[in-house]
Amino acid sequence: MTTLGIDLGATHVRAGLVDRDGRLSDVTRQVLPPGPAARLDAVRAVLAHYPEAAAVGLAVAGTVRDGVLTWSANLGLSDVDFAAELGRPVAVINDARAAGLAEARFGAGAGAATVLLVTVGTGLGGALVTGGRPHEGTGHAGEVGHLVLDAGGPPCRCGNHGCWEQLAGGVALNRTGAGLGPDGGGTPGAARLAAAAAAGQPRAVAALARHAREFARGLDSLCAVLAPHTVVLGGGLVARSGPIREAYLAAARTLRWHTGPVRPARLGDDAGVIGAALAANLS
Ligand code: BGC
Ligand code: ZN
Repeated sequence: MTTLGIDLGATHVRAGLVDRDGRLSDVTRQVLPPGPAARLDAVRAVLAHYPEAAAVGLAVAGTVRDGVLTWSANLGLSDVDFAAELGRPVAVINDARAAGLAEARFGAGAGAATVLLVTVGTGLGGALVTGGRPHEGTGHAGEVGHLVLDAGGPPCRCGNHGCWEQLAGGVALNRTGAGLGPDGGGTPGAARLAAAAAAGQPRAVAALARHAREFARGLDSLCAVLAPHTVVLGGGLVARSGPIREAYLAAARTLRWHTGPVRPARLGDDAGVIGAALAANLS
């Protein structure tokens, strides 16, 4: 059976046909125009492009409950029932959970009984996959980015202060990078921070080390509670080689509560598409 996997992110939509061995074909990627409405239109266009798909899975960068995207600061959407909007059955899954499913089945977590995947992008996302199945709880399990680690910390888009993603996610790295001074070229703060750290600028090196420590602090707490066999780090900021990936991986390998493997994700940008397709076939 051919399953269509769709990964709807803040800036682009990626899609492809996935076979039962996780192999992708006919991959398309489209940059999204700004605005929430464009996102639904883009998903409609993707569906029209793949009329042969027998089943459809959709990964979204936000909180999902009972197939409904209840809230996403990254996508600017809330309470979207995609199946109703699109007029066809669609398995909707959180982006990190999709990546966790795919990495546990075909990627860096293959063979491990329990995989904790954390994605480091604009936000921090998470998934716990046991025996090939993601833990769902009442639906929104894995919202690790909103662990409050510093109640006096920066405000988060969820309404709390000092959430983990505000200390160690892309939003935090962007803020720190922007604080390094004017750049004029519109380069995202995280990239500026990485470049300055690679050049050995002391302020940048120290700031990145601080973010990496904050990342490890949250990860250690998660491992204390969840005791995963393998930890997989994914997401755009860890996928690219460079000082951010190095600092985060190194920090994640010094945990008190996890002495097992810590691996970088292996499926790269394809994880969301493959995981979305797997979600469509979970029963
Ligand atoms: C959102 C999660 C999402 C993560 C990664 C967080 O801000 O709350 O739902 O999985 O970012 O995109
Ligand atoms: Zn939050």
